Amino acid sequence: MLFKGIPASHGIAIGPAFLLKVEELRHARRTLDSDHEAELEVLRFQKAISDVRHDLENIADSMGNVVEGRQILEFLLLLLQDPTINKEVESRIRCGLVNAEYAVSTALRGVMDKFEVMADPYIRERVADVRDVGRRVIEKLIGTEKEALKNLDQPAVLVAKDLDPSETAGLKPGQVLAFVTDMGGRTSHTTILARSLGIPAVVGLQKITAEINPRDILIVDGIHGHVIVNPTKKELKYYRNVRNRFFEAEDLIQRNNPGPAVTEDGVEFELAANIELPHEVELVNKLEADGIGLFRTEFLRLVQEKGENEKDHYEIYNKVAVQMLPKPVIIRTYDMGGDKFRTGLDTDDEANPFLGYRAVRIGLDRPEEFSIQLRAILRASVHGNIKLMFPMVTHIEQLRRLLDLLDLVKNDLRSRGVPFNEEMQVGIMVETPATVIVLDLILPYVDFVSIGTNDLTQYTLAVDRGNPKVADLYDSFHPAVLRQIDTIVKLCHSRDKWVGICGSMAGDPLAVPLLIGFGVNELSVAPTLIPDVKKMIGVVTTTAAREMAVKSLSIETGLRVRALVHSYVVGKYPEILLDENDWRLT
Ligand code: PEP
Ligand code: MG
Repeated sequence: MLFKGIPASHGIAIGPAFLLKVEELRHARRTLDSDHEAELEVLRFQKAISDVRHDLENIADSMGNVVEGRQILEFLLLLLQDPTINKEVESRIRCGLVNAEYAVSTALRGVMDKFEVMADPYIRERVADVRDVGRRVIEKLIGTEKEALKNLDQPAVLVAKDLDPSETAGLKPGQVLAFVTDMGGRTSHTTILARSLGIPAVVGLQKITAEINPRDILIVDGIHGHVIVNPTKKELKYYRNVRNRFFEAEDLIQRNNPGPAVTEDGVEFELAANIELPHEVELVNKLEADGIGLFRTEFLRLVQEKGENEKDHYEIYNKVAVQMLPKPVIIRTYDMGGDKFRTGLDTDDEANPFLGYRAVRIGLDRPEEFSIQLRAILRASVHGNIKLMFPMVTHIEQLRRLLDLLDLVKNDLRSRGVPFNEEMQVGIMVETPATVIVLDLILPYVDFVSIGTNDLTQYTLAVDRGNPKVADLYDSFHPAVLRQIDTIVKLCHSRDKWVGICGSMAGDPLAVPLLIGFGVNELSVAPTLIPDVKKMIGVVTTTAAREMAVKSLSIETGLRVRALVHSYVVGKYPEILLDENDWRLT
């Protein structure tokens, strides 16, 4: 069965499915060898029931007199002790010689099916409660999903409705072969993480979680956005071949691509890397990138076991900057909120997280916590070529407050005799149309800017970057985005300010000639994309790039702009990896 989604991270993977946080009760069937094993399984089931009862009673006690909440819990407790359901589960284990998880999930699915067709709406609504009880019991049986994920007996393809980066924390390298999600878009943070881990991913598959069962074999084609569930022998053979060819091509590009990025007419171009985790620096150096154009520090949550502390921050920034010397490292302050790391932010009731409590809005609201990060960056700045960048700046008064806070932290360090680089450059990301419109007023306050096209596209077109239903409308080649990039570069250069671009657009092969043509000073891309982008830069002349950029400004649609660039590069770089959108052009 073939599903089409959004190609999010290049590569091909083949392996069994691991379902994470999928609400339906579906669990793999394991056949037991003997009646004795079945009795052990029944005991395991009874123990899980008593553990869940214990948990629920504790919750009920802590609720005091909240009548409605207690009623729900009492109903759950009744369900849990229902002799008919429990007997049904036990008989499935004994007669069918199956594992307890499977028996629970099939028995409860039967109950849910019966409830769903009842005329009484009250009973129909109880389906969610049955599911809840089932999930709790199964969790006791298999341990939490995170534990199960950590103890995968073989590498697997992670299947989920959506993934918060924190859910993938602690994954051992090689354990996850690919990501496959219902939600998500080309630039959602799951996608970014997949790219940073070098794992193939297809997102925006809408309802694929309803179609996949644990341990189904999946082929994930992250180049075209295809997922094949339980492939035929012929499909497997074909894709094993494609996978080998992909590895060979990647290897060839990496090996034949050392040194700086140079255009076809010999102009050296600054090509930097975006990193999320410190270990990526090794690959960045191996690929000879010109620096780190964006260090998304919020992802450090994934490696900070002891929580927020200045020492960890300082050590990480220091290490990264020293490893990169003399090349620059642009450290972006936290960008929590939106679609990432919302736990602990009290944002559960936000109707529009991308328009809500995010990035420097949180930092300014919690200056004490934010200062920890600022202090660590400043302290590390004496050892490396560090620049500091604030994300999501929309208001000038906000920028002033950020700079004031930075000054406060600097004063504190000075008064304690702690060294930092007094000349450390400070910049902002340009990620909203508001920032573009008032950029002339902002530039005097900053040393540089970097364009975040992921958010700039989302906020310009009013299209959620992670919502597959509107993914067709999400287009960084839209004239409204291209015209803003042109405006930003012209404004920055008229005031002698450096302007980079670190949104995913910088790593899109068809965008590279345009961005060079608009005159940006740097492209910063996921490390795994550096070889491809370097090669792309090498087949473009600065004159042709300029001509294409100028022409693109009077083209009506993003697709036509892509076609323009495509017709230029296709003869020069035939093996270029293009995604589904681009194939439509050929
Ligand atoms: C962007 O918005 O383009 C960007 C680089 O930041 P992030 O993807 O982390 O939001
Ligand atoms: Mg952004």
